[in-house]
Amino acid sequence: MTIGVKTVHRPDHEVSYLRATVKGMALTFSHLFRPKVTMQYPEQTSAPDWTISNRWRGTHRMLTDEQGRSKCVACGLCPQICPANCIKLVPGEDEEGNRYPLIYEIDEFRCVFCGYCQEVCPEEAIHVGVHYENAEYDRDRFVYDLERLCAQTHPVSTLWDPSDPKGE
Ligand code: SF4
Ligand code: SF4
Repeated sequence: MTIGVKTVHRPDHEVSYLRATVKGMALTFSHLFRPKVTMQYPEQTSAPDWTISNRWRGTHRMLTDEQGRSKCVACGLCPQICPANCIKLVPGEDEEGNRYPLIYEIDEFRCVFCGYCQEVCPEEAIHVGVHYENAEYDRDRFVYDLERLCAQTHPVSTLWDPSDPKGE
């Protein structure tokens, strides 16, 4: 491929910039009549042509069974795979040998929202969620304990499917 060189010569006489100014103002003015692309957040969180993707990876949510108990069986896979080392799990065991989490915490501040915890969970218990409004004033508030994770009600992420890269 050949590369062309265009030489732009500076004017060697006095010129008026009025034409360029008017052209610029006309462009600015034309934006008054174009459809608005700005959303008035937080009053507005979606628009007909924009909604949050169902593959969004945000605030975690722990799913529960019919009795309202966490579906986690404290297998230890999610803290093992977590690249940010932000999952704290202390496993417990009942008289029948069923494992459950005595302590289960996720530090949303350290989390990189990779979604590995969801992918690896054999019980489909822990999920990243389609939710992003989790700002806090205090760092400690970013640590979600089991009760808080179970109390989340937002939709869970469908994650990225390699066989369907465009999510169609
Ligand atoms: S989304 Fe990734 S970084 Fe966040 S808790 Fe899960 S595995 Fe860890
Ligand atoms: S991978 Fe699932 S079942 Fe295992 S400890 Fe994590 S949340 Fe619990």
